[in-house]
Amino acid sequence: MNSGADIAGLRVTVVGLGRFGGGVGVTRWLAGMGAKVTVSDKAPAADLAESIEQLEGLEVTLHLGGHDPRDLLQADLLVVNPAIGLDSPLLQAARDAGVPQTTEINLFLQRCPAPIVAVTGSVGKSTTTVMIGEILAKRFAVHVGGNIGRSLLENLDDIAPNHVVALELSSFQLAATPAVRISPHVAVVTNLSPNHLDRHGTMAAYQDAKKNIFRFQRGGDMLILNAADAEIAKWRVEAPARVDFFDPAAEPFELTVVGVHNQTNAQAAWAAARQFGIDRTAAAEGLTAFGGLPHRLELAAEHGGVRYYNDSKCTTPGGAISALEAFEPRNVILIAGGYDKHLGFDALGRAIAKRVKTLIAIGATRDKIATAAEKHRVEDMPAIIMAEDLAAAVDIAADSTNKGDVVLLSPACASYDMFANYRRRGQAFAELVGKRIRKAAT
Ligand code: ADP
Repeated sequence: MNSGADIAGLRVTVVGLGRFGGGVGVTRWLAGMGAKVTVSDKAPAADLAESIEQLEGLEVTLHLGGHDPRDLLQADLLVVNPAIGLDSPLLQAARDAGVPQTTEINLFLQRCPAPIVAVTGSVGKSTTTVMIGEILAKRFAVHVGGNIGRSLLENLDDIAPNHVVALELSSFQLAATPAVRISPHVAVVTNLSPNHLDRHGTMAAYQDAKKNIFRFQRGGDMLILNAADAEIAKWRVEAPARVDFFDPAAEPFELTVVGVHNQTNAQAAWAAARQFGIDRTAAAEGLTAFGGLPHRLELAAEHGGVRYYNDSKCTTPGGAISALEAFEPRNVILIAGGYDKHLGFDALGRAIAKRVKTLIAIGATRDKIATAAEKHRVEDMPAIIMAEDLAAAVDIAADSTNKGDVVLLSPACASYDMFANYRRRGQAFAELVGKRIRKAAT
C-alpha cells in the first residue's frame, strides 16, 4: 500500500489548506500521485500566503475565500483538514451525496510501512514527540511529523519497515481515525486538561477523540499512560493491547530545557523509547541533546539581568501554569490572554496570584484572566494591568522589570484574536523585545 496508485486520476478536493503544514503536505503528495487536486479554503489568499508559496509549480486549482459546494459535491474524494468539524453542514452534504472523505493523517496511517509511535494529550505533545525522535535517532532512522506541522506523506518513499515514525496527534486528527480503524503501535498519552471545548463540546467528547489513539491497537501494541494522572490511568481498562506507565516523578533526567513539565515529557519519551529496546543511558544522552522547540519556553533575549521567555505555543491555562512553575515565584512578569476557547481560568488565576509579580492581560480573554487573578490575589500581589495589545504589553513589562526578573509571554490562549497563529505571535514578541532592548542600549 506504500503508493498512491489508488489516487491517480481522482478528482480530490482538499478542504482546508491551513497554515500548519498538513494541508500543504497532502496537497503536494496528491498532486505528485497524479490526482486532479482542488484546494478549497474559506480564508482568502492573503491569509494563506505562506502555504500557497509551497504549492508553487504544482498543477493545483485554488478556490479560496470561501467554499464552493460544487468543489465538495463533485469530487471523487475529500481530504478534510482537521480544523474543520466532521459535523460541518458542507461535509454532511457531501457525505449525503456519497462523496468519500478522508484526512491527511488517515492517508498516512494506511500507507506507513514503519512502526509508529504517536503522542497525544492536552499539552506537551510536540515536545514529547521530538524528545522521542531525539532518543530513537540513536538507534533508528526516525521520521518526525504529524500535528507538529509536518506531513510525512511526501516522505513515504523514504520510510522503510525498519525505521520508526514519531507522530504528534491532536484530538482533531484523532477524531477522524475511526474511519480507517488504525491506531499507532506505541501510543503515548501525556496528560489531559480541558481544551478545544469550543469544538468538541464536552470533556467526554474530547476524551473520546483522544482514546482513538489506542482504540484500534492490536496484540503486540503498547499504550503508555501517565501514572500521575488518575483520569488517564483509568484508560488502562479499555486498552485492547498492553499497557505501560510513565511516572513524572521518576528519577529525573539531566535536561537542557527548563521546567518541571519537561521532566514529565522526558519520562513519557523514555517510556516510549524503551519499547524499542533503548536503554536509559542512551535515552538520557538523547534527552540532554534536546535543546527545546521554538515558542515553547524559549529564551528570546536576556538584557540587564532580565530574561525574556517566549512561550507563545502555550494555548491552555494548564500550559501557562506549568510555565509559571518553571521559575522562582514573584520574579515573573506574565503577559497572558488571547482568543477565547471557553476554558476556565480559575486554576491559572490561583497560580498567577501565587507566583506572578505583575500580570499584563491582553486579548479577548484579558478580563476573564484578570478577574481570575483578582479573585485569588492576596493584598496587592500581583499587580494587574490591562494592555491594548502585545506591543503595549511588552513596553509595560520592560518598564516594570528589576534585575533577576523574567518577562514571560505564556498566553494560556490561542492567538487568533490578534495573530494568524502562535508562531506569528511568538515572532512579534521576540521582535518587540529586541526593539525595546536596542532602544534601551542607545
Ligand atoms: P502541545 O504540542 O501539546 O501543544 P508543546 O510541547 O508544544 O505542547 O508545549 C506547549 C506548551 O505547553 C509549552 O510551552 C509549555 O508551556 C506547556 N507544556 C509542555 N509540556 C507540558 C506538560 N507535560 N505539562 C504541562 N504543561 C506543558
